Order: sequence, then structure tokens, then C-alpha cells
Amino acid sequence: MIHSIEWVVGETAGTRPVALAPDVAVGGRDVVMMAGPCSVETYEQTRAVAAEVARLGGRVLRGGAYKPRTSPYAFQGLGREGLEILRAVANEFDLLIVTEALGVEQLPLVAEFADVIQIGSRNMQHYPLLWAAGETEKPVLLKRGFMSTIDEWLKAAEHVASRGNERIILCERGIRTFETATRNTLDVNAIALIKQTTPFPIIADPSHGTGRADLVTAAARSAVAAGADGLLVEFHPNPAEALSDGDQALPLAALPRFRAEIERVARALGRGIC
Ligand code: PEP
Ligand code: MN
Repeated sequence: MIHSIEWVVGETAGTRPVALAPDVAVGGRDVVMMAGPCSVETYEQTRAVAAEVARLGGRVLRGGAYKPRTSPYAFQGLGREGLEILRAVANEFDLLIVTEALGVEQLPLVAEFADVIQIGSRNMQHYPLLWAAGETEKPVLLKRGFMSTIDEWLKAAEHVASRGNERIILCERGIRTFETATRNTLDVNAIALIKQTTPFPIIADPSHGTGRADLVTAAARSAVAAGADGLLVEFHPNPAEALSDGDQALPLAALPRFRAEIERVARALGRGIC
């Protein structure tokens, strides 16, 4: 059977939208943009990004307060202070926050501050964390493990759901392959497959998916074309000075153009963006 484009994208595929607020849902008609710095570094940096997100009509701010860094000597995030900064600027601009919980101990604190709890790639099979997230009432953004199959990822989502929380948003963030020209390989196949076979909304993270700012926009367009319900994208006022993931961050000045590019693809599919 050949399916129409309408069947592949949006609610008609059987996606159960996850509401983040009365007027924002992931998996509905609009492609939801979640933009912000990799790490919350300062109040001024985070506020600058939030102001621009809101000015352009965006509703969701991303930013890490607890960072999973490969090196223990790298910046590990501001912790609670980062959550407080996120909440303050989000409230000022009426935005929603997505931020990562690294461990079970800090999950209640993150759940208190965040509108969406992010579970990172390295933690996709951290079952106690999945169970703890499943016991909260907040939507859970479950990133794909960079060494995980789609089946392992969906089973991880079932672990969250098994504790009663079915408000799960999957996030394809690139997997490790033999390719070294890019940090990861964004698996666009996974987006199409998940839209066709599961009720979970799926978004894409083209920042970690490529690791290169010059490829982020093209990767984001491809993800939306494949049916992604949203994007998680890193923006920084000055990427050269970012304390984490500067190579893949788009400058904040590029946000208007980025949104316009994504909106063109979304409109071609009968969707809008927010
Ligand atoms: C992030 O979103 O900044 C992050 C750490 O992502 P991932 O878990 O996909 O590496
Ligand atoms: Mn990052």
C-alpha cells in the first residue's frame, strides 16, 4: 500500500500528541521548535536566547543545567542555579523549558523547574531514571542512545510508560556510525519509521546529529521533511565562547533565518511551526 504524505506526517499517522501547555502540543499540526544553548552559562546568555525565541513566536526554550560531559574536567553545568536561571527567563517571556535530568536523585528538582524532562542519549537505558521519570506527571523527552537500535529505544520508552507516564516524546539525535566527518549520523529513517509504526511524537536534534553548525539547517530540514514533529536545536549568542558544544551551535543571529527555512518545509507538508 502506498501512503499519502498526509498519512506520514501529523496526527493522521496515529501520533498521540503530547501537550506541553494548553496551546502547545508535540505531535499535532505544528512543528515545535525547541531552541536554546547547550548549557545554561549565565543569566545574560540565557535571557538573550529566550528573548529572541519569544520575539520570533517560539514557545520552548532548551538549556542544560546538569550536563553529561565526556570529560570530567569539562564544564559540568550550573546545576540548581541553571534551573533557576531557566525558570526566571522562561517566566519573563512566557516560554516552556526543556532541560535534562542526569540522575535519579536530582529528578524531583528538575521536574519541579522544567516543563519537559529531558533524558539524554547516554542515559537512554538508565532504567531507574526511566522509572523515576515515569512516576512524574511531566512530559519526558527521551533521546535515542547513540549506540542504540530503534527497538531498544522504543523499549526504553515502554519503561517510562510502564510507571504510568505516557507523555513521551522521542528525540532522534544521531547515532554513531563508521563516519567520522560528522559527530554523529542523524538517522532520518528512524523518524519515518517511528511516525509510521508508533503513537509517539518524534522530534530531531540536528545539532548533536551533525556536530557541525554548517550542517544543522540542512539536517533540520530533512528531519521535518521526514515527518519530525519538532526540533531541538542549539543556539548561542557567541558560539566561539560556548562552554559546551560550540562547534555545533548556530549563532543567535541565525535564528530568524533558521525558523524561516523550517517553516517553508513545514508549510509544504501542510504544517505550521511554533
Ligand atoms: C544535549 O541536549 O545537550 C545533550 C547532552 O544531548 P545528548 O544527550 O543527545 O548528547
Ligand atoms: Mn549539547
